[in-house]
Amino acid sequence: MKITGFELGKLRIPLKMPFKTALRTVDYMEDVVIVLQTDTGHKGFGSAPATAVITGETHGSIIEAIRTIILPAIKNEDIQNLNHVVDLIQGSLYKNFSAKAAVEIAVYDLFAQSLGAPLYKILGGGEPVLSTDLTISVDYIDKMVQDAIDAADRGFEALKIKVGKDMRVDIERVKAIYAAVSDRALIRLDANQGWTPKQTVTALRELESSGVEIEFIEQPVRGNDVEGMKYVTERVTTSVMADESSFGPREVIDLIQMRGADIINIKLMKTGGISNAIKIADIAALYDVDCMMGCMLETAIGVSAAAHVAVAKSNSITRVDLDAPSLATVNPVVGGVLFNGSEIRISDAPGLGIETISELSMLKFDRAAAS
Ligand code: MG
Repeated sequence: MKITGFELGKLRIPLKMPFKTALRTVDYMEDVVIVLQTDTGHKGFGSAPATAVITGETHGSIIEAIRTIILPAIKNEDIQNLNHVVDLIQGSLYKNFSAKAAVEIAVYDLFAQSLGAPLYKILGGGEPVLSTDLTISVDYIDKMVQDAIDAADRGFEALKIKVGKDMRVDIERVKAIYAAVSDRALIRLDANQGWTPKQTVTALRELESSGVEIEFIEQPVRGNDVEGMKYVTERVTTSVMADESSFGPREVIDLIQMRGADIINIKLMKTGGISNAIKIADIAALYDVDCMMGCMLETAIGVSAAAHVAVAKSNSITRVDLDAPSLATVNPVVGGVLFNGSEIRISDAPGLGIETISELSMLKFDRAAAS
């Protein structure tokens, strides 16, 4: 099965309600979608959103990286030389992790299809059912409490509360939500780099002493402030998770060795795809550190790939934050992974199992540049 060409498209899906973090507010999700073509007629699907504030990539940069550098590097390669193809993708250009992830996802989809099995089985198997948390956007306290109650009513057993704005108000937000739903749902916090190390320690100590039990605090301080992560991790009882501080396997090794985090948030768009996500899960397992599989605000194509990895690496990926498809008004992806509220269920279809993608508008390029 040889890679013969590709098509690129865009997928734009409105959200049920605006997604608000300490960094941004958005009301739709928009992915660049890649369809890899082969000489056997099989098609591989991959996708990447643009999360400029986190990875530095835009739709324009993702499209150009895929079209002019990554795809030419793997054209005519045999899908069954998976490791070689992955090396070509990862070595094709510096950084550009989301662009690499989109292509890797499509390559792994084809590799598993070529072996006639769902991707998670090719990656080592597992129980193909996951339970995801749901994100509660940062907002007025009453609105956040109501959103949390609604989520618990819908059966979500873990809620990820976005904080990281004004620390004093954040503490009140968390206390109010905890009082409303802690008998039904685990509470996780994500400060999206919004606090200083000292503020984080103050906030967590106050929550800890007032009996509010938080499962973990995600990325309280700036991503590049690894010393700040260590400062917090040393001083609070609550587990600290690294998100923006951890991209690839090297950062994970450094963070773990310096004890800068208790838990690692793996996202395919930060790691550059599935190959590095697997490495991180294995490194974490070696050190007895847990991981969470997360995603960006992105459609079910990339999130499906993340679900396959989470199932196969469930020995170290003990938490799942793959709620993006639940935040969208519709799921345009038909086949493969079923997203039903908190439950994520993977079918037995080969590869990612994607049959069709509705709402997909294909991009046109002049032939010379794309070949
Ligand atoms: Mg996060």
